[in-house]
Amino acid sequence: DLRVRFCPSPTGTPHVGMVRTALFNWAQARHSKGTFVFRIEDTDAQRDSEESYGQILDALRWLGLDWDEGVEVGGPDGPYRQSLRGDIYKKVAQQLVDAGYAYESYSTADEIKERNVAAGRPEAFGYDGYDRNLSEEERQAFRDQGRKPALRIRMPDEDIAFDDLIRGRIEFKAGSVPDYVIVRPNGDPLYTLTNPVDDAMMRINVVLRGEDLLSSTPRQIVLYRYLMELGVAQVMPLFGHMPYVMGQGKKKLSKRDPESNLFLHREHGFIREGLLNYLALLGWSIGPDRDVFSMDEMIERFDVRDVKANPAHFDIDKAIAINAEHIRMLDPQDFLNRSLPYLKRDGLVTAESWDDLTDREREVLTASGPLVQPRVRLLGEVSGMMGSLLNDADYIEPDPDARKQLKESAAAVLELAEQTLREVPDQSWTTDHLHDLLTEALVEQGGYKPRLAFGPVRIAVSGRRVSPPLFESLEIIGKTATLQRLTNLRQ
Ligand code: GLU
Repeated sequence: DLRVRFCPSPTGTPHVGMVRTALFNWAQARHSKGTFVFRIEDTDAQRDSEESYGQILDALRWLGLDWDEGVEVGGPDGPYRQSLRGDIYKKVAQQLVDAGYAYESYSTADEIKERNVAAGRPEAFGYDGYDRNLSEEERQAFRDQGRKPALRIRMPDEDIAFDDLIRGRIEFKAGSVPDYVIVRPNGDPLYTLTNPVDDAMMRINVVLRGEDLLSSTPRQIVLYRYLMELGVAQVMPLFGHMPYVMGQGKKKLSKRDPESNLFLHREHGFIREGLLNYLALLGWSIGPDRDVFSMDEMIERFDVRDVKANPAHFDIDKAIAINAEHIRMLDPQDFLNRSLPYLKRDGLVTAESWDDLTDREREVLTASGPLVQPRVRLLGEVSGMMGSLLNDADYIEPDPDARKQLKESAAAVLELAEQTLREVPDQSWTTDHLHDLLTEALVEQGGYKPRLAFGPVRIAVSGRRVSPPLFESLEIIGKTATLQRLTNLRQ
């Protein structure tokens, strides 16, 4: 039975790389009908925050990446926050020391550096194994100086190799990985200990994570071997390291890049289907020439062994285009419901929910939804498209782009349109009739090219050069407001 995990450290706002890791683990678990464990690695009180923890929960819930065991839902191997597991790490650390797999190390960073310099080794050489074979008397002498020991894992003098699920065979030469610290002198356990111990106790058998953690894998493999000897771990997990995500140019996407910020994408109006679809493409593909798919399709096909090792490129334009496809696929009422928070945010409605809207608002939204849905790529664009339909203002200030588009002939065109429309009886104020009438008056009789004829009318009623279809819009806006807008733009 496949058991995978997502185990972020709550140190900031959720970013694209983090979510891609969660998605691939989730998809593999669902594909294999395995178990998806969600653990929080909050052992660094300086950097971890409750706010970040809450944001990560919010992110997974919004995206619909549900977990089977872990924080909030519980499970057989809890607690699932490392800050609550201190006693477990203490006990395992002691077992490792007792068995000789870990040892007390009294060297300070400065001492290690000095010894490396004195021996002609590069500073980056790292820890030299000095404390490996201290006698009890030597250790006592350090204690008598008031020193407290870190605990270090004893690395074996042999090559370490494993078969990465994504990158194939990976080898680390004997001696290339120094003995490393698992517990600080003050007693704080480090990621190097807590992560493999929890993976072992939570019976994780496949570890999927970012390429940035590849260098910690030989250490974890060694620790795992010791944990198996101690009976803490049952099996060595398989590892797969997912490719870096690159941003603009040839640079890695940084957590601090705005393009990396999940909630910013949500604010702009990505829907979960679109964003997940795009994130899935960061290293994986569902098949040749196919970019748009649902999560059900991803689950059906996903196999981490198909993930490519070379860096993935985050392309916001492609992400937006994919989002547009998913917006188009939404059921019309669902589209409106999901647009509501954006309309509210932008001050176009005050209600939180469909049922709390006024009748007029519901009517306008229902009529304009089908016009707007195929024309937005992000839900954040809905307000711009619907603003002029939802309010009954008697004047719409053209945006600068639209203003530039108004030619000298605009005033005459607007006047002609206004005269024509003024004669229309209320019951004939329909899309088709308005289309025929204005085409006849402005184009056929007035002699204006369609662009010059309808452009100014569009700008008068919507304030924009690009808007939902004109005649449908006129019908929704109604006769009174339409005439006022035509008059007021002219003056
Ligand atoms: N807490 C680690 C991180 O956020 C997880 C590393 C792992 O997946 O092993 O980077």
